Amino acid sequence: MLRRTCVFFLFSATFAFAQKTPIQITADLTEAPRKIYHAEIDIPVTPGPVALITPKWIPGHHSPGNTLADITGVVFTANGKTLPWRRDDVDLYEYHLSVPAGVNSVHVHLDCITTNVTPNVAVLEWERLIMYPAGTPVREIPIQASVTVPAGWGIGTSLTPTSSYDPQHPAGGTVHYAATTVEMLEDSPIMTGAYFHEYPLAPELSTKHYIDVIGDSAEVVEIRPTVLEHWNRLIHEAWAMYGQPHYRSYHFLLALRGAQGGGGLEHHESSDNSLPERALTTDEGEMLGAGLLPHEFTHSWNGKYRRPAGLATPDYATPMKGELLWVYEGLTDYLGEVLAARCGAISAEHYREALALDAANMDATTGRQWRSTGDTAISISGLATAAFGGRGAGAWANWRRSADYYPEGNLLWLDVDTTIRKLTNNSKNLHDFMTVYLNKGGGQTPSVVPYDFNEIVADLNQVVKNDWAGFLNDRVNGINPHVNTEGFEQGGYRLVYTEKPNDYLKASLARSAGREFWFSLGLAFDSDGVTISDVRVGSAADKAKLIPGQKVMAVNGRVYSREAMHAAIRQGKTSSTPIHFILQNESLVTEADVDYRDGDRYPTLQRIEGAPDVLDEIAKPLAQAAGKSQ
Ligand SMILES: [Zn+2]
Repeated sequence: MLRRTCVFFLFSATFAFAQKTPIQITADLTEAPRKIYHAEIDIPVTPGPVALITPKWIPGHHSPGNTLADITGVVFTANGKTLPWRRDDVDLYEYHLSVPAGVNSVHVHLDCITTNVTPNVAVLEWERLIMYPAGTPVREIPIQASVTVPAGWGIGTSLTPTSSYDPQHPAGGTVHYAATTVEMLEDSPIMTGAYFHEYPLAPELSTKHYIDVIGDSAEVVEIRPTVLEHWNRLIHEAWAMYGQPHYRSYHFLLALRGAQGGGGLEHHESSDNSLPERALTTDEGEMLGAGLLPHEFTHSWNGKYRRPAGLATPDYATPMKGELLWVYEGLTDYLGEVLAARCGAISAEHYREALALDAANMDATTGRQWRSTGDTAISISGLATAAFGGRGAGAWANWRRSADYYPEGNLLWLDVDTTIRKLTNNSKNLHDFMTVYLNKGGGQTPSVVPYDFNEIVADLNQVVKNDWAGFLNDRVNGINPHVNTEGFEQGGYRLVYTEKPNDYLKASLARSAGREFWFSLGLAFDSDGVTISDVRVGSAADKAKLIPGQKVMAVNGRVYSREAMHAAIRQGKTSSTPIHFILQNESLVTEADVDYRDGDRYPTLQRIEGAPDVLDEIAKPLAQAAGKSQ
């Protein structure tokens, strides 16, 4: 068991390093469309041996960021002369050099190869370009940044410009920013692009919020009024649920690019988000991406301000411990989905349908028979490439498990919320927990207040007495062969499977057919729609020995298509013969018979007659009225 820790620290952008000369860094993004960034860095040093370092363990990734291979063209100079360097044999992110007598500043040039760009959009997470002295807490190292972008490109960032910058008429060129710490700079990404529109959100609040939208065309950065209204309400809903913010102002940075994908990375005073280029042009697209901004915004309170002790490391060389990610990410996953419903970005019905999909996906994750959810959190730094690279897909991903503390955490915290409501006859709920959990000091300047497992238990007990340690341990660290259904059952719903997909799932399958046959035959498909990406252990497809990587050529004598597969599944319900597959495996062709009789199966939540509809209550807005947070 962990001991209760009460560590509390603030990093101030002004006084902690008043005596030290800041590092100067200029990030040159003018070649971003060519997938390369450049940096010129001046680092104050003293003569003699010096160790300089670039970040390895990246906050928010909870794992090494793998920037090592991308950093190239590193040259150190002092007084116009090149200085030889040698990489550390153990910490590959560290550079050793010897500074000659009389030298008090070393210049570093480096380049970083990046894929986080399109011809019109570039995202700079500073860990890709910064270098600083090793062995010093990053909150104690002052740094002053400048950024150069192509002519006419707009810049979204939470950094404070000290040279003239008009977000509504971006000119490109170089912008200088106020000195800060390496910790805060790493936490303050730059998003820049040719098509840029900054929108103020909830302008009636004294603390300012903005969304900086950058896309591959002028058309997509013009956001529909209904979507902007949902985002305005998001600010009010978050303030109503979380109370005092721990940011001076907040910038959502949003890139709209590409046909598919998306994701986000949280920061104290901003978030780096991306969605498909056309995601916000239709209500259906908005629904599918509804959870992203609420999730990343929630992290400013849960993740950046309140942070598990094992993730609140002093620098980016110290390994991070992921054991409490079911709070950091799991609670955020739950709250993000709830806020998405409360602000209107997703309807209450679609919110429940998304919940059903999470539950069904986790129930079909067969690796839960050997590995706890807690273990997926502890091992994330080893799982990250497999988990995030392919979003948990790929051969036998269901048997390995992935970053399951997200969806499992969503269901767990729903369980906590509905259990508090049940134990208190609906007089309290998760809002009461958030009030206790978030009321641990700290002002509007970004601060970090670490916690441990015992604090979570104590905070819950302050809301209502219960065996919360046992409750959480069973669900997080136990081997549970089936998904936790208690949350939505206490919420008035049960998980069932139907032959027709609900609206949310239908929209999701229209974007990618990957899991259309997952809950029936037990097959997941790659984006090409014909290559088997995963076979669910214990399913009919598994018993017929189908193999991830095989292409399905034909089913029941017909050339393979989604329609042909559905027809074969329908026939299977009444036929006495199994479904016949012809498969291509590399250059070989094989056949297989899949004995499956249960028809199409899609998850959904069904009302439990007579039980109160608590899920509907949870999805209702909390903020009292537009324009007025509590
Ligand atoms: Zn997150």
